[in-house]
Amino acid sequence: MKIERPRGTRDFTPEEMQKRNFIRNKIEEVYGKFNYLEIAIPTFEHIELFSLKSGNDIRESMYVFRDKGDRELCLRPEATASVCRMFANDMRTAQKPLKFYYYAPMFRYERPQKGRYREFWQSGIELIGPKNCESDAEVIAAAYTALKNLNLEFELEIGHLGVLRGLLNDLGISGEKQDELLNAVDKKDVTRLENLVEHGVIFDVLELKGTKEGSKEILGKAENLLNDYPDAILALSELKEILLMLDIMGVDYVIDLGVARGLEYYTGVVFEMRVQSLGAQCQIAGGGRYDKLIGLFDGPPTPAVGFAFGFDRVMDAIEVQNIKIPENEVDFVIAVVDHSVRKNALKIASKLREKFIVDFDLMNRKIGKVIEYANSINAKFVIVIGPREIAENKVSVRDMKTKEQKTVKISEIENLLTK
Ligand code: AMP
Repeated sequence: MKIERPRGTRDFTPEEMQKRNFIRNKIEEVYGKFNYLEIAIPTFEHIELFSLKSGNDIRESMYVFRDKGDRELCLRPEATASVCRMFANDMRTAQKPLKFYYYAPMFRYERPQKGRYREFWQSGIELIGPKNCESDAEVIAAAYTALKNLNLEFELEIGHLGVLRGLLNDLGISGEKQDELLNAVDKKDVTRLENLVEHGVIFDVLELKGTKEGSKEILGKAENLLNDYPDAILALSELKEILLMLDIMGVDYVIDLGVARGLEYYTGVVFEMRVQSLGAQCQIAGGGRYDKLIGLFDGPPTPAVGFAFGFDRVMDAIEVQNIKIPENEVDFVIAVVDHSVRKNALKIASKLREKFIVDFDLMNRKIGKVIEYANSINAKFVIVIGPREIAENKVSVRDMKTKEQKTVKISEIENLLTK
C-alpha cells in the first residue's frame, strides 16, 4: 500500500537538511553573540494556552485532539505562548532578563501553498523581564543581524501598536473594538476599517510610511497629527527612541505605522521582515512587544519582547537570491580491491575517523565506480587498499581534485589533509 505524506508536510533529503542546518547555525551564531540561550518547549499543549487570548476561533487553524485521558490538547501553532507559560510555571523568580531562543516545528491547519505549510519551522527569540527601548532595539537588531549574516536582502518594517492603541484609547474606542480594528489594519482591509471607524486621523496615521532617511519627516508628520492624543504621543516618543538606538546599531528600516501584526497580544513596538521576491508569502519574520501575555497565564505581570523567523521562508529567500551554501564534504572514501585486505581497510578507516570524515565503500564496487561515487559525494581523496600495498604498509591514494594518484605510507595518510 502506498502512503502519501499528510497534506502541508514535507520530507527533507540529507542535502536539504545540510543546507537547513547550515543556515540554522548561522542564525543561532548571531543569537549567541547577543547571549541568547536555547530552550525547548513541548510539541503539544493544553488548548487553553492558545484559546485564552485568541478565543475559540483559533481552533479552526489548529490541530486539536483528545488524548486517552480525555484532555483537550493541540499541536503548538507558535512558541511565544509556551515560552510565557514556561516562565509563569517555573521561572518567575529567575534572574532577569531571560534571554531565550528556540528552533522548532509549528503546526497550523491552513490551506497549503508555496511558502505556507501545515508543518513549518520557526526560529525565534524571546526576551523576558525588561521594559525599555534598549530591549526592543536589541531584539530587532538581533533579527536584522541574523539575516545580514546570511547576506540576504530584505526589508524591515517597524511600527508601534502603542501609537494606534493610544490613539484609539484617546478617541474612546474600547479594547474589543480595538482588536477588531487592528485585525482589519493587519489584513489591510480598508472597507472593513471604514465600516468600523469614521475618524479620519486614524487613516492619516495608517498611511505614514517611509524609509530611515525620511524618518524625521514621517515622525514630524505623526507628531502633528497626534498632538491632541497624549497616549499616542507617548508611544510615538518611545518609537523615536527605539529608532535612534537602531540607527546607532547600524540597522536599516522602514517606518510603517500601519504594521499591526495578526496576533492581538502585542502591546508596543511591532515589526515585520519581508523579501519581496518571494511573492505572496513574502513575510519572513514578525515580532514585537507583548507586556500582558505572561499575566494572562497567572504569572506575575512581566514585560517581554520577541520575534519569530519563518525558517522555511528564510530558506526560500536564500534560494531565490542565489546565496551559495557550502556543500557537504567527505575527506576520504575507502575502496578495497581484494577481500583478503578488507579487515586491514576497516582498521585504517577506524583510525582515520578519529579525525576525518570517512566513507567506506559498502557496495563492494569496482574502483572506477567508487571514483564516480566519490565524485558525487564531493570527496577529497579515494584510498585504494590492495594486498600488494598492504604488504608494504602502504595504500594508493587518488586526489579527486587533481586526479593524481600516488602511494603513501599508512602512517602518513593523514598528512594529506593536515598539511
Ligand atoms: P506568526 O507567528 O504568524 O507571526 O509567523 C511568524 C512567521 O512564521 C511569519 O512571518 C512566516 O514567515 C512564518 N509562517 C507563519 N505561518 C506559516 C506557514 N503556515 N507556513 C510557513 N511559514 C509560516
